[in-house]
Amino acid sequence: MTAPKRLRRDAQDSVARLRAAALEIFRTNGLDASLYEIARAAGVSIGTLYHRFGTREGLIDAVIPEIADCRLQALRATVLGHEIAHATAHHGGERMSEAMVMQTGGSLLGAGLSKTDPKWQAAASTAYGLGTQVGRELPHSRAQESEADHIGLIYMSRAGYDPEEAVKFWQRFKEYSAQQGGDTTLSFLRTHPTDDVRIEQLKKWLPEAKAQK
Ligand SMILES: [Zn+2]
Repeated sequence: MTAPKRLRRDAQDSVARLRAAALEIFRTNGLDASLYEIARAAGVSIGTLYHRFGTREGLIDAVIPEIADCRLQALRATVLGHEIAHATAHHGGERMSEAMVMQTGGSLLGAGLSKTDPKWQAAASTAYGLGTQVGRELPHSRAQESEADHIGLIYMSRAGYDPEEAVKFWQRFKEYSAQQGGDTTLSFLRTHPTDDVRIEQLKKWLPEAKAQK
């Protein structure tokens, strides 16, 4: 009599393990990550993965809201840290509103993931009800930008976020910018041209930021 119940629990366990593994591996390696690797990490066969989720798309659908949420949180921490740093360093100019930050986030989620762009966009829009309002931010000098990046990275780390996410953010931002050909309604992109210098500097400051935790 206990056999059916046992089977059901095993099935639930494998689904939970597959979701956890997919969350971790899709986050790290992108949505094109190997399904074999996910199955292996979950301790099940690839057949079980297909049996439980049908296809890659099915598995992605099961975890994408959580992945998008993680990314948005990290992105929000990066951009807000940077903007707060401009304010505390008295750089002047107008700070971005939270709505602008989230608008930026929605647009950037899909950068570098062209095949699955609509999924990211949809997940972000659902989670945050992103609008299309465009705010205004005045550009700062290059020196002020560096300072805001540096201080923002430290703020972000102190707030409990992984400062590596800031590097990923600017890398995605660079890809997004390239995709858009520099033509965008996003004020943050217009006022924050991204380049390798910015990314290299952030990498250099990572150990200092990590020590703030
Ligand atoms: Zn700035």
